[in-house]
Amino acid sequence: MNIQDNVPLSDYTSFGVGGLAEHFSLVNNAEDLTEALKCTLPSTPLWVLGYGSNCLISDHGLPGMTICVRGGDITVDRTFITADAGAWWDDVVKAAIEHGLWGIELTSEVPGSVGGSTFVNIAAYGQSLGSVVEWIEIWDRNASQVKKLHRNDLSWSYKSSVFQTDKGKNWIILRVCLCLSSKITDELTYQKALDVASELRLNIDSLEDRRKVIIEARKRAGSLWHPDGGEAHTVGSFFRNPTVSKEQVDAIIAFDESGVSAEQIRKMNQIHGGSEARVSAAHVMLAAGFKRGQIFADGRVKLNDKNLLKIEALPGATAQAIYDAVREIQETCYEKLGIRLEPEARILGAFK
Ligand SMILES: Cc1cc2nc3c(=O)[nH]c(=O)nc-3n(C[C@H](O)[C@H](O)[C@H](O)COP(=O)(O)OP(=O)(O)OC[C@H]3O[C@@H](n4cnc5c(N)ncnc54)[C@H](O)[C@@H]3O)c2cc1C
Repeated sequence: MNIQDNVPLSDYTSFGVGGLAEHFSLVNNAEDLTEALKCTLPSTPLWVLGYGSNCLISDHGLPGMTICVRGGDITVDRTFITADAGAWWDDVVKAAIEHGLWGIELTSEVPGSVGGSTFVNIAAYGQSLGSVVEWIEIWDRNASQVKKLHRNDLSWSYKSSVFQTDKGKNWIILRVCLCLSSKITDELTYQKALDVASELRLNIDSLEDRRKVIIEARKRAGSLWHPDGGEAHTVGSFFRNPTVSKEQVDAIIAFDESGVSAEQIRKMNQIHGGSEARVSAAHVMLAAGFKRGQIFADGRVKLNDKNLLKIEALPGATAQAIYDAVREIQETCYEKLGIRLEPEARILGAFK
């Protein structure tokens, strides 16, 4: 295991901010990850990163050991796909499509690793990763051993997994097996994607075309990111879509500026969050007075021009400046609307 000291974590996050890892190891398959975990004392603080596309890491860095997992094997056996934690999620989607398997095609080009995506329970256009998981191999830090969690041991909800709870906080994902289908599993009903399909004359009942539709829809929404790609420095949507009272749903939806009907927005909210009481956090921010393109921290932090849920780190941004903008948004939304916006991104390390 190759360990380096004082490694800048800004190089390993999509925000491009973050201080030094006290100790750091980059591993590129599940075997090396397991070995690295075996060598890390249970008493040492441990942080596991994939592509850092959903993390805000403190300017003070992270104490103890940071293991960054990038790369690994993907194997397909009938309708089962098994992938190492560090595999790039979209490579798993591509493998599924190449083998004619349905169930994750709508998550095409969600950036990140298989491990990070499982931790987050990524969701896009009506599909979520958790719903197709067959088993997960983990390293249990409490028992210092490898374990296998089966479908029935796992429960999933909107952007949540057991790994985000006290029960799973010492479980590191090593490998994930998905059970997909040789037949179509989900309808594509998200209006903006349907508009793309009709404009480009793509067939939403073809796997390959669905992927093209989703990638184009994500491109238009500014939702593409690659580690070496030069896109804006964001973590995607910073906040989870909150649930609100029945009365508040209409009032919040009324702040939409895209010209889409209230009925369509309700449908899209349901697709994104699985509940009619869930509203877009972007609409909540608009309702609280925030604007697309709004600047914070003397020009170092910005809300994306198209989607204000995407907080962008501009040149010179610090993690603390992003954190301060996040707090300002949370406090304003609570004061003005009584709605608590919870971060979807993980905030790691010490902040003021
Ligand atoms: C432009 C953009 C668009 C996005 N669009 C979407 C979207 O449409 N839908 C969506 O759901 N998300 C989206 N995201 C968020 C992000 O893509 C996902 O959350 C992604 O799965 C994170 O993977 P990662 O490897 O980068 O995780 P990281 O950011 O490295 O880690 C995220 C969390 O997972 C934990 N973790 C990572 N690996 C492991 C492991 N092996 N074992 C245990 N814990 C682990 C980390 O400790 C951390 O707490 C977007 C992000 C960006 C930048």
